[in-house]
Amino acid sequence: MRSRNLLITLGVLVAVLVLPNLDALKSKARQTIASAAGKAAVTNMSGVVAENNARGLAAAELITLPIEVDEVAPGVFRASGVGNTFVITTSEGNVVFDTGLVIQASEQIRQLKAVVGDFQPVKIVLSHSHADHVGGTRLWSGEETQLIAHEEFEEEQRYLTELNPYLHQRNRTLFPWIPETPRTLPGMNFRGLIPDIRVDNDIPYTFVLGGRRFEVHATPGAEGADNVVLWLPDDKVLLAGDFFGPQFPQFPNLFTMRGEKMRKPVEYVNSIDHLLDLDIETLLPSHLEPVHGAEEVRAGMIKIREAVDFVHSTTVAGMNAGKSLSELMVEIRLPERLLLSETHGKVSWAVKSIWEYYATWFHFDRTSELYATPQSAVLGDLAGIIDADAALSLVHQKLQRSELEQALLLLELFEGLNTEPELMAPLMELRVKVLSQLRERARVKSNDYELYWLGSELEKARSELP
Ligand SMILES: [Zn+2]
Repeated sequence: MRSRNLLITLGVLVAVLVLPNLDALKSKARQTIASAAGKAAVTNMSGVVAENNARGLAAAELITLPIEVDEVAPGVFRASGVGNTFVITTSEGNVVFDTGLVIQASEQIRQLKAVVGDFQPVKIVLSHSHADHVGGTRLWSGEETQLIAHEEFEEEQRYLTELNPYLHQRNRTLFPWIPETPRTLPGMNFRGLIPDIRVDNDIPYTFVLGGRRFEVHATPGAEGADNVVLWLPDDKVLLAGDFFGPQFPQFPNLFTMRGEKMRKPVEYVNSIDHLLDLDIETLLPSHLEPVHGAEEVRAGMIKIREAVDFVHSTTVAGMNAGKSLSELMVEIRLPERLLLSETHGKVSWAVKSIWEYYATWFHFDRTSELYATPQSAVLGDLAGIIDADAALSLVHQKLQRSELEQALLLLELFEGLNTEPELMAPLMELRVKVLSQLRERARVKSNDYELYWLGSELEKARSELP
């Protein structure tokens, strides 16, 4: 099922490649291609969901969410999708906030225009440079449209583009519905956007359109250095992009498994302080559902602020007290009053991220960290002097005592031994067991990315079983 749909996706791509004149691709053709690719991606994932493949299930749910338009605040319309697209209407023209994923944007545009009428946006505000927020920008833009983004937007976009072949494969491990090869086709290219107005961290960019006031505030530190939010002061509505992540409130993603630059923890706290000065009544995130109620929003923001501040200050205190990184990763837990969902950002990974943000990759621990030779280079030499039965029973013991992280470390060493098949087969079976139990454990304090990664590793381990 899945492979057939992948063929449909590839078919769409091939059809584009053989078009006689790619330069002549006009907006309509672009939208058709993007729309077909979007439908194929959804069908891919529907197949995966139907097969009840636990790997990437949350991501699966996101891509298979229906695209629908609703009025989420007076004169503010949201088209749902992997990333939401918003239209804020005024009597003198409309503003668009975020433009979704390229493969969903044309359907979002079609539905939004069906509700508010045909228009070219006066301004497009992009919350940050991620693919799920800028995909439809070229499909919306008209001659007169002004593009507004953070002053770091182009730099963030540059490195994400330059490293795209590498980052794409990391993304695919976590989000299996993403096509195998990055899309670099003219009709699908959503990168290389140049803002007309760049917002800096000091002064918000404000404008009035049709009597409606708009304020674009820089909020760096959440999903990167180039975050902005759109504040509608008359309505007390905040279009938050990914500043708070997909659920509210939750512990933020100070580190991302997808592979990205470090995110600055103190900047994030400062940005929340800035937002607390606004009197927000409605929060419109660029993923999933709005949050209503001034008290709920304020309480959630304060809790997130305190939690990040706590993790930051205890990590710094631990470093100053001479504790090792692994000690701090185990020790630092949110106190009861600050407990937050870790589905998006995990506290122990934030500790590591803060540690490395300040002290970089040399953990001041093992001397071999300084040199290029990995442990695996010498494991083969150990093969001859290892007692295979003793090795196996050691892993068994760790597993029985639920010392899963220790069992995993041993397995990673033993697999590197590259020893005779009689030992390898039972080791690989043990690897499947250990990964399964790690995943069960991860479900308890669920972090989406940890589950995606363990799911992917488990699938690989199962496929390698003799
Ligand atoms: Zn996003």
